[in-house]
Order: sequence, then C-alpha cells, then structure tokens
Amino acid sequence: KPTVAIVGRPNVGKSTIFNRIVGERISIVEDSSGVTRDRIYADAEWLGREFSLIDTGGITMEDEPLNIQIRNQAQIAIEEADVIIMLTSVREGVTNADEQVAPILFKSGKPIILAVNKADNPELRTEIYEFYSLGLGTPYPISGSHGLGLGDVLDAVIKEFPEDIEEEYDESTIKFSLIGRPNVGKSSLVNAIIGEERVIVSDIAGTTREAVDTRFETKDGRDFVMIDTAGMRKKGKVYEDTEKYSVLRAMRAIERSDVVLCVINAEEGIREQDKRVFGYAHEAGKGIILVVNKWDTIEKETNTMKEFELDVRDEFQYLAYAPIVFVSAMTKKRLHLLPDKIEEVFMNRNLRIQSSILNDVVMDAVATNPTPTDKGRRLKIYYTTQVAVSPPTFVIFVNDPELLHFSYARYLENKFRDTFRFEGTPIRIIPRRRK
Ligand code: GDP
Repeated sequence: KPTVAIVGRPNVGKSTIFNRIVGERISIVEDSSGVTRDRIYADAEWLGREFSLIDTGGITMEDEPLNIQIRNQAQIAIEEADVIIMLTSVREGVTNADEQVAPILFKSGKPIILAVNKADNPELRTEIYEFYSLGLGTPYPISGSHGLGLGDVLDAVIKEFPEDIEEEYDESTIKFSLIGRPNVGKSSLVNAIIGEERVIVSDIAGTTREAVDTRFETKDGRDFVMIDTAGMRKKGKVYEDTEKYSVLRAMRAIERSDVVLCVINAEEGIREQDKRVFGYAHEAGKGIILVVNKWDTIEKETNTMKEFELDVRDEFQYLAYAPIVFVSAMTKKRLHLLPDKIEEVFMNRNLRIQSSILNDVVMDAVATNPTPTDKGRRLKIYYTTQVAVSPPTFVIFVNDPELLHFSYARYLENKFRDTFRFEGTPIRIIPRRRK
C-alpha cells in the first residue's frame, strides 16, 4: 500500500484534513481493545486506491521551536512516504517556515502536492498564486472546514503513486516483526534469532522498505522475513527515539507482518505504551506472540513465571489467545522456541474450517447454552461459514444480528477456540441477517 504524509506548520489544519481524508474509517477500527491512540496513522481510500495516511504533525513535539518541528516533519515524511502533501494556509500566506521546508521537500525527489488550506471562499482562492513562489508546482486551494477542493488534491496524489509496490514475497513466506518500547531488547532479540541462521541477501532492486527487511532461512529450510520496526538493524535514523515516531514505525511494521512478536521487558514490567501498540496489532488481525524478554534479570522462585504470566494475562485481556514465551536475548534461553511458535501462529491464522464441521460445533454450542433472547425474541442461528483467513473470519447467518450479543459471540468464539485452537490468532465473527 502506498503511503501519503501530510506536512505543514502548526495550525494550518493538518488534523482536519487528515480526518477528512480518512473519513469515518478511523472509528471502525477503534477500541475493541479499549485503548485510545493517537491519530497519526490511518488507512484511507480514494477512487478505489487504498493508501496509508500519516499526520506528521501528530508525531513532532509541540514544545520544539517551529523550524525544528517542521524540519522533523519533513524528514519523517521523506523517509516514510511515497507522496507528500505540503499543507499551507492562505490566511497566513507564505511563511518563513513554509519557505524553509519547501526546498528540503523538493530536494528529496519525492512527489509533492502543494495544498493551500482555508481557501473558504472565492476571494481567498484568488490569493493562492503567491504559493507558486515555493517552487513546488501548482498550489491547490482547499478548505478543510468546508470540505472543498480535497478531491483535486487526492486526484493529484494518486496519480503519483508508484506503479506497483506489491510485496514480492510469496504467500508461504512468513513475515514477522518485533514491537515494543525502546530498550525492551528488540534488536538484541533479532540479532540473537537471526545470528544463528543464514541471511539471504535479496537482490531485488531496493525500495527503502525492502532494504530494511531481513530475509533468512532456518537450518531446516524454512523461509522467514523479519520486518524492521524502527531501524533496529540500522541505528541512528531520524527521530527514532521519540515515542510517537517509534509507535508510527511499529504500526507500519505491523501492517506488513503476518505475525507480531509483542516484546515486554521483564525487568520493567508492563507499561501503558505497550498496551496501545499491542492493541493495534490485535485490531489489525495479526498473529500475536507475547514475548517476555530479559527473563535472566528476574530472581526466580517456584511460581515466578506463573505469577508473571497472570499479570500479563490481566493487563492484556484482549490477547487471551496469544501464547506467552519467556526468553532472554542475552543468555539465549528458550529463544529456539520462537521460529516454531511463529510458524504455528502463522498456520493457525491461515486455518480454514469446513462448513460442515463448523456447523456441528455451532449446533453443539447452542445445545449446551441456548441462544439469548431480547424482548421476547430469540436469536436463531441458521448457518455458519468461514469467509476468510488471516485472520479467520466467520459469518453467522441469523434472524436478527442485533440479537447476537457480545457475550454470546464471545461464547461462540471460545467454542471455536476449544475445538480448533487458533492459538495466537484473532478470529472474527460477523452476524448477518439471512435474506
Ligand atoms: P531495543 O531498543 O528494543 O532494540 O533494545 P536493545 O536490543 O537495544 O536492548 C536494550 C538494552 O537491553 C541493551 O543494553 C541490551 O544489551 C539489553 N538486553 C537486551 N536483551 C536482554 C536480555 O535478555 N537480558 C538482559 N539482561 N539484557 C538485555
């Protein structure tokens, strides 16, 4: 999926434009895990072309001087995006900050679309010509608050999309990533896992993204691709250490992964930021393994591992399906379990269940625990079928979808899990009215 970034100084209306472009989509994916998140990154679509949108303004820090903020935004956009929307405002005209950032963007060689916001009426629209002076081509007048002109901007944006940036890996190649706060030991884990294996140097003419993937083959000949979260193998890139940027990189890595290793630092325990990012992997329907690293630092008694596991389960209730592996990147203890676990979760996420078996399980479930009623009407389940894998998605045909309450859907999910296991993968249950 191509990526589009919005750059512009504070108050030009970046978040308004971001929300306009993303539309209602953001609320659909929100919060099944009960975690709120920054609106810095979201999926969007225009004329059937899907893309990811980044609000670089949401990543930089507001207490920094303006010129630093906007330079950092530009660098993030140059590093992350295929197309950049430079946002300015006709009310303030061309500012110093605009003049500073324009040449940086221009030199990057990335396609830049110059949008001039707050052009709410015809008089203001005639004033946009001064923006030609930025040397970024035609300025597009838009109004975020009135929703005007955005269509032209998006037309121009999608015209610049690269022809084909599809993944070149085939479907059986397992793509995984490691996410977690700085210092949980992601790089150490990667080096420890990959250190043992043969790294395949890919000769595909590199876009920047492939360049950071690491492809390797295990001794018994299985292919894996490790997707870099935040320059783990290549330190010292832009803005790496700020929390929001690492969240953004994690979100982007998650999107390209089949399985996500969510790394917790045993020494420090679980933090808020862990919950936020892991929640994104869950909502994205990715396979998930909870990895507790630095287990060597913990003083152990009889039940230490059990107790830590209970804490993790308590903090991540929405990840009840995810296996937990306790490892140490330093001593390499239990690290050898990871490739097998990753593969197992990958398989579970691609599992397809025959309808006949599925319907037997549902009938059994209904016989044990009758369907709920609401105002005298009982939920009737007619037929269940799996409509997708990765993650496994089931459509249940019913008399009225409203009658399938959350708790009963959860009950059915548990039945599916008892029967088919599905360890490490989210599953989705969608009720649909039978016509
Ligand atoms: P990242 O920011 O998540 O990539 O974390 P790093 O891999 O850079 O590790 C951060 C620090 O934790 C480094 O000083 C590592 O040596 C240390 N570290 C990583 N894994 C372990 C571990 O399993 N045990 C111990 N004791 N230290 C570790």
